[in-house]
Amino acid sequence: MSSFKSKFQDELIANASYIGTPGKGILAADESTGTIGKRLASINVENVETNRRILRELLFTAPGCLERLSGVILFEETLYQKSAAGVPFVDILKKGGVLPGIKVDKGTVELAGTNGETTTQGLDDLAQRCKKYYEAGARFAKWRAVLKIGPNEPSPLCIHENANGLARYAAICQENGLVPIVEPEILSDGPHDIAKCADVTERVLAACYKALNDHHVLLEGTLLKPNMVTPGSESARVKAEVIAEHTVRALQRTVPPAVPAIVFLSGGQSEEEATVNLNAMNQLKGKKPWSLTFSYGRALQQSTLKAWGGKDENIPKAQSALLVRCKANSEATLGTYKGDATLGEGASESLHVKDYKY
Ligand code: 13P
Repeated sequence: MSSFKSKFQDELIANASYIGTPGKGILAADESTGTIGKRLASINVENVETNRRILRELLFTAPGCLERLSGVILFEETLYQKSAAGVPFVDILKKGGVLPGIKVDKGTVELAGTNGETTTQGLDDLAQRCKKYYEAGARFAKWRAVLKIGPNEPSPLCIHENANGLARYAAICQENGLVPIVEPEILSDGPHDIAKCADVTERVLAACYKALNDHHVLLEGTLLKPNMVTPGSESARVKAEVIAEHTVRALQRTVPPAVPAIVFLSGGQSEEEATVNLNAMNQLKGKKPWSLTFSYGRALQQSTLKAWGGKDENIPKAQSALLVRCKANSEATLGTYKGDATLGEGASESLHVKDYKY
């Protein structure tokens, strides 16, 4: 059965392709109120609406950054917030040539009878919410499915359930004008080697594309946000070139060329690692029918957050730190990053958090 037809078809294709423009990428600033609270606590800043707004304003108005971005993912609260001067954030992004996106999942719950595996919630009222978010200016969405690697994980149940959830979410987004980012994140937690991660990544992605096809999702109007293929967090590190080879091979085997772009998550890598690994993939020779860009949360914001520290007088310094990362990642999407980003405080520090919740 072919993909569905909708009045949004051309717009979905154009927006997905724009987001994948080489030289640009996505800033994931969609931390839920609980998650941003943890990030703010790390710099001793209180988790109240004003402070969340100040942080997001700092990110969206940082000089030089929007031109290196094609999308920013927001949490619902931020979609409706304004700058201190009263300009809606959505307008600031649009003026800067950046599409606003929205996190639409409602977090994970445990799958009964499994060893702590999860499924993602939020399908029930999703169509109505997508409609509302489209009217507010959002043009793409994110839904994070989470899988883990263990002796018997991910289980066939977990793979099937999450693939189906992602496909159903993607179909609902497309019916309402939002480009769905399909995000099956395989956590890096564990002692497994890179071969195991490659095997699991291939199985999970194959299941996702089978489900997307079954649900008549228009692949040209979607984006994939996968983990990179790496050794587990408790295993010896390998070179960026090895990560690049394993990741691109896993994608070649499973992701149809109809998908315009693959926008990686950083998944607890340090800022610098996430940049260097993306750059290595873009330098790799071979078949790559999609653009390979970024949709980083932690790996774009860590040094910025530290430089800010919750103090107004540090905002310019924090914005320069963000520009360093935006510039480096923009170059990495072209394979031209020279490894010369000034290392801001925190740029090489691991951002891995066990069992990370977004
Ligand atoms: P990280 O880059 O911090 O892994 O987050 C990206 C994201 O949006 C996860 O859903």
